Amino acid sequence: MMSNNQSVDDIPSTSAAAVMCRDATMIQQWNIVQMNKYLGSHELCVSFAEVYGLLPKSRLCAVHKTQMALRKRHPVGYFKCSRGNCKTKSLISRAAGTWFEGVKLSIPHVFYLMYCFAHRFTREGIYREDYVSVGKKLSSGTISDWYSYCREAVVIFQLDHQEVKGKIGGPGKVVQIDESKFEKRKYNKGNNNNLYIMQLCLFKYFSFFSGRRVEGHWVLGMIEDGSEDLRLEVCPDNVRSAEVLIPLIRKHVHEGTTIRTDFWRAYECLPEYGYIHEKVNHSDPGNPLIAEDGTRSQRIESHWRVVKRFFYKDNYNNPANFADLIVEFLWRREIRKKKTDPFISLLGVIKYVYNTK
Ligand SMILES: [Zn+2]
Repeated sequence: MMSNNQSVDDIPSTSAAAVMCRDATMIQQWNIVQMNKYLGSHELCVSFAEVYGLLPKSRLCAVHKTQMALRKRHPVGYFKCSRGNCKTKSLISRAAGTWFEGVKLSIPHVFYLMYCFAHRFTREGIYREDYVSVGKKLSSGTISDWYSYCREAVVIFQLDHQEVKGKIGGPGKVVQIDESKFEKRKYNKGNNNNLYIMQLCLFKYFSFFSGRRVEGHWVLGMIEDGSEDLRLEVCPDNVRSAEVLIPLIRKHVHEGTTIRTDFWRAYECLPEYGYIHEKVNHSDPGNPLIAEDGTRSQRIESHWRVVKRFFYKDNYNNPANFADLIVEFLWRREIRKKKTDPFISLLGVIKYVYNTK
């Protein structure tokens, strides 16, 4: 079976792992026992990642346009072209450009933390159910890093899969509008995906508060008071002038709506388009939820409170990530509605964002 190119490390997946893997892909609802059984070892995880499209099975040499040889060395293998000058070139990690690129954690732990994120395990829960660790505990830094990576992928996926039906608002109704920004974390797939390379900060005051420099693309968020129908739009060319914002607002918000915004001047022409305009100071850290006329923002009261309660009980209390949490909330609400398994849904998200083709 072994070709001349293969060394002793280059052990192909055993048929036992392949059979396990086939069974694993049939699972409709994952639980912790199945995680341990099907994703409890490095070899099983690598086979599973291959079958699920999270790791490439092959790669073409950029020079020769021929299949490179796969060497299954730790951690997930390398590609090597043995033609011409390529012989002298270094190996290309199979993890390059994938969810597993630069991974310091064991692959079973990566899958385990994905499962934990999907099911919203608390830190205590993560330690209690950890079937991978033998003695050595996962650090809290590692846990929060991988939760962030998962959340980031969810945000990217969710912004691409919004289901928008009709317009929001109308006479007598209030719509809150704010712009937001993304900041790069794990995801790094090149220039055409720039709009994702940032972190959503729906409330600018949060970024003021944390003193972080926020850069990247602007996203416009619109939500009707008392509704959970959040609309998000990426501002073309990273511009948030009236010329860009007003058409996006008209696309989503009925005329006659009372629109609450911050003091950004681009909104000042809203009355010309049949809207009633009220200003709210989002960037005052002392009093961010109070409107100019002293009334409390009802959106904050009715909707964000629910979202906050949803997350705060799990110590998701880093305000810099709050807007990401809202998008995560929308994703979780959708998978609950569709009754899909959270872990399988997350696998789909990772596959979408880290496409290995
Ligand atoms: Zn080559």
